[in-house]
Amino acid sequence: MRKIVLSTVFGLFALTAFAQPGAVHQAAKLMGCGFELTAIHEDPVVAREAVKAGIEEISRIERLISSWDENSQTSAINRNAGIEPVQVDEELFQLIRRSLKVSGLTDGAFDISFAAIEKLYVFDGSAQELPPEDEVARSVAKINYRNIILDPDKHTVFLKEKGMRIGFGAIGKGYAANRARAVMKGMGIESGLVNASGDLTCWGKQEDGKDWGIAIADPDDKMKAIAWLPVGEGAVVTSGDYEKYFVAGGRRYAHIIDPRTGYPTTGIKSATIVCPDTELADALATSVFVLGKEKGLALINQLKGIECLIVTEENEILSSNNLEIQYE
Ligand code: ADP
Ligand code: MG
Repeated sequence: MRKIVLSTVFGLFALTAFAQPGAVHQAAKLMGCGFELTAIHEDPVVAREAVKAGIEEISRIERLISSWDENSQTSAINRNAGIEPVQVDEELFQLIRRSLKVSGLTDGAFDISFAAIEKLYVFDGSAQELPPEDEVARSVAKINYRNIILDPDKHTVFLKEKGMRIGFGAIGKGYAANRARAVMKGMGIESGLVNASGDLTCWGKQEDGKDWGIAIADPDDKMKAIAWLPVGEGAVVTSGDYEKYFVAGGRRYAHIIDPRTGYPTTGIKSATIVCPDTELADALATSVFVLGKEKGLALINQLKGIECLIVTEENEILSSNNLEIQYE
């Protein structure tokens, strides 16, 4: 049996899935992170073609949504903030519409217009000062998802104020994983897995006919599982990449910004969401960070079919009411 380490959460946990030989796996660097695609099919040629198409699909989405690529439609929206509405593809329009829905659901904890403040922070693990208060105040005033104006007739997106900016860092990987899965399924792959650096979706069965599951590794021995999260078909997404953080005044700050304050969140080390949809899981994992453990769990407990596992800064492990964990 081949064992793939899918993701490491802060070196405290590793999420591991098991796949059988025969499945085609491919790793690729996309959207600034490591993806791994797995296709299981009796014909390896079909599996390889599907994995290739999945990777192409993710690159296509990256070109559409990247706010770093000057030529993307997202950059055009940002350049025209406070100036004029920008016409965009249906796909980007709908992604923004869904992002705004999550903002509504989370009372603004999730907000793609957080990006107005992005330039004040460098999350490269270094020690830094928190940015000056007046600069934070100026940038945080530009964060407000209600000022992202969609016109469904003209298919335009308008950022109402100058200095506004949007970015899909907290939802794009989940969307891309959903799309890669759809493309692979469309090519006849009835069982497979897409892992976007810890944002993963699996469908069908493993090659041996068993359900997909995620092993939660022993913090002291990553090759040893302490618990098992049955996933079957669906998504498991973890937020809280420990490579993206900075330290100020002896405190560690995550790369997730609280849109209300403009400061990075503290309190939660990792948030894992289990639900059928990778994009929603991605957005909600980020939201839970911002909401904190109490409000975050309260929100997840209200949502049917969505579960959550939180590791706090104090290494407390909390889970939503119906999370199914099997201990060995
Ligand atoms: P990870 O990269 O660990 O999977 P997330 O999915 O939570 O983490 O994405 C974090 C990224 O989301 C940040 O790097 C940033 O680009 C963006 N982001 C930060 N804060 C917010 C927020 N409050 N709402 C939406 N996006 C955010
Ligand atoms: Mg996210």
